[in-house]
Amino acid sequence: MERITLPGRPELALEYDAGNRKEMGPCPHCGQKTSRVWGYIYRCDAAAAAYFVEWTPLHAERDATFDLIVGKWGEDTHAIDRQSVSVAFRVLDSGPSFMVQDAATRPVGSSSLASKALDRDAVIGGPLAEFVFAVCDLVYLADPRIAELQN
Ligand SMILES: [Zn+2]
Repeated sequence: MERITLPGRPELALEYDAGNRKEMGPCPHCGQKTSRVWGYIYRCDAAAAAYFVEWTPLHAERDATFDLIVGKWGEDTHAIDRQSVSVAFRVLDSGPSFMVQDAATRPVGSSSLASKALDRDAVIGGPLAEFVFAVCDLVYLADPRIAELQN
């Protein structure tokens, strides 16, 4: 297990197992395999989100999807304690950008680990927004398995 925090955000930690990686595909457009890696985010030492990043390494566009299951994890927690959120990552002329999309359109939206798939309005207008973007920033900057999305 690797555990990583960023300077300035000591309360958030990322943890993953190097084996938590899967190749899928092929992409219907170009035939390349898609990769998925996953891990957990801890807030003040309590698991607060699972994350899944999917991207196609050989695509020229550095697009990726960051799917999250946010809420309480651990003993005595259930799907009702968690919700799914999906965030599209794009590199625009202005730089990297995260945009919340409807989680119901993603496989994570039907995960049995979460009780509800949140759409963009439910996240952006709600109490989860700051946490969701902080998680995406942490994963993007700190998970070395997706470092190629930064180049
Ligand atoms: Zn492709």
